Amino acid sequence: MSAYEPVELPEDVPYVNAMLLQMMWGIEEVMGKHGLNAVLQESKLDRYIDNPPPNNLEFGVLAREYAGLNEAIEQFTGRAGKGMLKRIGRSSFRWGVKEQSAVMGLAGIALKALPSRLRKRAVLLGMRKGIMDTVDYASIEVKDEDGVLVFIDYACVSCHTRHAEESVCHLYAGSLQEAMAYATGKDFQEFEVFETLCRAKGDGVCRFEIRDK
Ligand SMILES: [Zn+2]
Repeated sequence: MSAYEPVELPEDVPYVNAMLLQMMWGIEEVMGKHGLNAVLQESKLDRYIDNPPPNNLEFGVLAREYAGLNEAIEQFTGRAGKGMLKRIGRSSFRWGVKEQSAVMGLAGIALKALPSRLRKRAVLLGMRKGIMDTVDYASIEVKDEDGVLVFIDYACVSCHTRHAEESVCHLYAGSLQEAMAYATGKDFQEFEVFETLCRAKGDGVCRFEIRDK
């Protein structure tokens, strides 16, 4: 039995400025300035062109804008979309560590003091705490199921209001992959992240399984 329940989010639920900003930095790093402007236009978020949200933890953007930008990248890049979203997710995680380590929950973790087998879980628990301390409606569970790390988001913002046949939170998966690289000092390619359940396809949660390759 789990003490957690899927969270019903209102359509216009707000989200944190810095999180959308980190994604925009990630998009620009991977797709260039023109690519960023194109996907902002595609997702009807032209108001952010040359006018990004501020780098703070206030709730000045919408969760569905964050999700809409994910969708626009997928549409804009076609078949390459999944890989592109993962790259952007890895980049936005790195921006998060650099610019907002509190919200990433990593500021207080003394990784070097931990045995390496505990570092990955410690980083996931740090992210969970950082997000849950910042976002009042956030609900995240981290589990170790026979050596497979499981990260479950009961109020996922990445796919908020989306409907799809397949899991769509590839950017989120990329961030988790980079988090494992951050935890261990290894290359991100050493880790596999699969989204086994996704709210966009009618599951109550977005659930990620994280394995060493
Ligand atoms: Zn999802």
